[in-house]
Amino acid sequence: MKKAPAQAFVDGVLTIEGEPLVEVRRSSIHGRGVFARRTIAAGTPILEYLGERIDDAEARVRYAETSGKKVTYLLRVDARTSIDGAVGGSAARFVNHGCLPSCELLLHKKRVFLITRRRVRPEEELTFDYHLVVRGDVDLETARKAAPCKCGARRCRGTMLNDDRPVRR
Ligand SMILES: [Zn+2]
Repeated sequence: MKKAPAQAFVDGVLTIEGEPLVEVRRSSIHGRGVFARRTIAAGTPILEYLGERIDDAEARVRYAETSGKKVTYLLRVDARTSIDGAVGGSAARFVNHGCLPSCELLLHKKRVFLITRRRVRPEEELTFDYHLVVRGDVDLETARKAAPCKCGARRCRGTMLNDDRPVRR
């Protein structure tokens, strides 16, 4: 009988027989991105979002510190917990936003995984929808422009924000 290939997460990246499924490279969307090294089936948990787990108060402090800078690696897990991928993070923090994404986040026992929504081709850049929302009294149109999207999808929203409130003009 053929043995199933050995799978393991190494530094938050799924590897099969010691070969990581993805790698970090320069991206045409933004900065660095994560790319498939082989065909990946739909429903595969490819990456785990690693980093320091912090409470909501600390997340607000760090978010305020990073505002103005282009990049933040804070990921909200639930109302109480966020993961700061800038501290001990995995390759998952480099996955760019896409409006028609190949991946989505999966919460499993308080751990966050990136799972494929469809088959991914070799060399394809992985994306997920950041679903950014505005907190507090911030002008929506300003916020949308502050988080532009260049994912290149045919129905690109033009912003990483996904907030259904009407635009104030
Ligand atoms: Zn887009």
